[in-house]
Amino acid sequence: MDVVVVGAGIAGLACARALTDAGARVRVVERGRVVGGRLASKRYGGRYADIGAAYCVADDPGFAGQVSSWQSRGLARPWTDTFRVYPGGRLTTGPVRWAASGGLRSLAVDLAAGLDVRLATPVDSVPEDADAVVLAMPGPQALRLSPPPGIAAAASAQTWRPVIAAVLRYPSREWGELTGAFINEHPTLATVFDDGDRRGDSAPVLVAHSTTALAARHLDDPESAAPILASAVGELLGLRAQPEVEVHRWTYAQPEPTDGPYAVDGRVWLCGDAFGRPRVQTAWLSGRAVAEALLG
Ligand SMILES: Cc1cc2nc3c(=O)[nH]c(=O)nc-3n(C[C@H](O)[C@H](O)[C@H](O)COP(=O)(O)OP(=O)(O)OC[C@H]3O[C@@H](n4cnc5c(N)ncnc54)[C@H](O)[C@@H]3O)c2cc1C
Repeated sequence: MDVVVVGAGIAGLACARALTDAGARVRVVERGRVVGGRLASKRYGGRYADIGAAYCVADDPGFAGQVSSWQSRGLARPWTDTFRVYPGGRLTTGPVRWAASGGLRSLAVDLAAGLDVRLATPVDSVPEDADAVVLAMPGPQALRLSPPPGIAAAASAQTWRPVIAAVLRYPSREWGELTGAFINEHPTLATVFDDGDRRGDSAPVLVAHSTTALAARHLDDPESAAPILASAVGELLGLRAQPEVEVHRWTYAQPEPTDGPYAVDGRVWLCGDAFGRPRVQTAWLSGRAVAEALLG
């Protein structure tokens, strides 16, 4: 069986990995210069910061097995189960959040090892030369490839929200113990995470994620959101120093959950994190579910 997977995010890589391990001939094509998609780490001042997913939660046994494998090889680390919640700053405890010392994208790089991945290869229509084509990406991106009707319908049914991420690099750590915080009822700021604590190198770096409202207003000019996010974080945590700020725009950051593990029409499949709760684990499970159905 010849399969083309379009998109080297965690869904596409999980699908390609499972198919390849079962003996299928798989080619992954990715428009970006690196794998990972929204499992993204980017280098600022010589150091990686996580600018997409903030962490992974692994409460599915299959994905927990994958995370254990990453942990046993020193790639993933249990980071924290405790964040702050604002207004107020009280502590809240939840499941263990997993991080990666090398940046979360290093987990995608590990999944991609040994796969046939073609980077910097944007696809503008559904490839013809394969028994199956897996579109492993947000629905609005899949729609640009003029997919068959069943896929177009599933993709059109998805609703997505944008986020602008800001990487804030400070001269020193002024905020003591933080890990991260969820900020409710704020006009511009949704979350802030301590990237130095997350990565385990104690670098004085925070990563903030905007509210949907702020991202929607600044999508055409994300740089203009930088001072707004920096001052919101400074005010929240009482920081005096001015950070260096870099921003990243995620036009399709967070989907509303839709039903089922994937969509399929003939030889074309659609998978990703819209098929369940929008998180890394869901994307991994969706990609694996397509692989299992194809092998089935
Ligand atoms: C700001 C932010 C914070 C988040 N926080 C968390 C969190 O804390 N915990 C959590 O679990 N999840 C979080 N997520 C969600 C998590 O990142 C996603 O669920 C997961 O990474 C989605 O993976 P995916 O493979 O489905 O999609 P993507 O990662 O979007 O992968 C799609 C890939 O397809 C490629 N592509 C698209 N079109 C084409 C084309 N035409 N040709 C070739 N390639 C193409 C893209 O370049 C991309 O690499 C967050 C996401 C964002 C943006």
